[in-house]
Amino acid sequence: MPKKKYAIDEKTEAMCSTCDTESAHTVVTVTKLGQITKMVCDVCESVSTFKSGVKTSIGMSSKSGSPYDRTRKYRKGQAMLHSTFGQGEVTAVIEPQKIDVLFGDQTRRLIHAQA
Ligand SMILES: [Zn+2]
Repeated sequence: MPKKKYAIDEKTEAMCSTCDTESAHTVVTVTKLGQITKMVCDVCESVSTFKSGVKTSIGMSSKSGSPYDRTRKYRKGQAMLHSTFGQGEVTAVIEPQKIDVLFGDQTRRLIHAQA
C-alpha cells in the first residue's frame, strides 16, 4: 500500500490514546519521505510520536489521561488522571471555569481554565 506523504502543519485524522477516539491532529515533524514522526492532537494537545510506523505515546500509558491540571482548559470527552479520584472523563462543561468529571460511578465538579 503506497504511503501518503505528509507536510508539517497538515491536518490529519488519527487515533488519539488520550481522547480514546479518532481526532484531528496537526503534523509537527515529518521525515524526508513525508512520514509523520510527531503530531499533536487538536483536541487534547497530547503529542504523539512515531518510530518505524509504530505509534508511541510520550509520558503516559494509553487509556489514562494526562494528570488533572486546574490551569488547563478541558473539553467534553477528555480523559484525565486525578491525584485523588483517579481516572476520569469530562462529561460536561458547566461554566467557563467549571467542569463535571466522571470518576468511576461518581461525578465530581472540578475547576479548570484557572489562569
Ligand atoms: Zn487527543
